Amino acid sequence: MNKQGLDDLCDRIAELIIKSKRIVVFTGAGISTESGIPDFRSPGGIWERFDPDDFTYQKFLGDAAARQKQWRLLRQLNLTAEPNPAHHAIAGLYRLGKLDCVITQNVDSLHQAAGVPDDRVFELHGNTQWAVCLGCHRRYPFGRVVAELDGDEEIPDCEACHGILKPDAVFFGEPLPQDVLNRAVSRSCDCDLFIVIGSTLTVYPAAYMPVYALDSGARLVIVNLSDTPMDKQAEVLVRAKAGEAMTVVLQKVEEKIG
Ligand SMILES: [Zn+2]
Repeated sequence: MNKQGLDDLCDRIAELIIKSKRIVVFTGAGISTESGIPDFRSPGGIWERFDPDDFTYQKFLGDAAARQKQWRLLRQLNLTAEPNPAHHAIAGLYRLGKLDCVITQNVDSLHQAAGVPDDRVFELHGNTQWAVCLGCHRRYPFGRVVAELDGDEEIPDCEACHGILKPDAVFFGEPLPQDVLNRAVSRSCDCDLFIVIGSTLTVYPAAYMPVYALDSGARLVIVNLSDTPMDKQAEVLVRAKAGEAMTVVLQKVEEKIG
């Protein structure tokens, strides 16, 4: 997209943001690739090197060998990733009073790292900042659990009850955290502008959120590098990198607010 084209689209998004009262931003893997976190599903992503069938919730619970394999992969997660310009622009909207909440499919907590308060971020797929004991529900910082592991083969357990420790991220076959999901649905139904950033809207139930928003009369904006099933319903559709587009959007909102 040429610079003028991007500029015009971002200007239209900024106008919508100014006019709207309750704005929900919805993010997927595409926003975090700019922070160096690979999209698990894309070509060259993690699911080409590992078999997703080995990473189900049922196997994690039932099979110590599978659990060991899963922890070996989890140790490779990039826990040092930093928020990128897209995360900072969204946090900028919050500071301007133009953000109701972020609903995210990501497990990296980079929205909070950029300055969006915890209670304004709904992590539909959990996060990798914490590990939780499935026995006594005690929580441990994930980085500490990984740092204290002895070698490649150890499976961590709970210091208090020796129960199974599981990262707080949602596994395949594991239900989404119901309270988070309920609140995300209600915020989607109550918003007047729904902005999708870096999601192809193909993973459900997360991808129902923009449907709820549209059905409730909200306007839809999509910023994503590839097609989504909802492109035709978007009032503004931008094919650009999230960081590039959202930085321009925030500048324009700031200019218009004055
Ligand atoms: Zn425990």
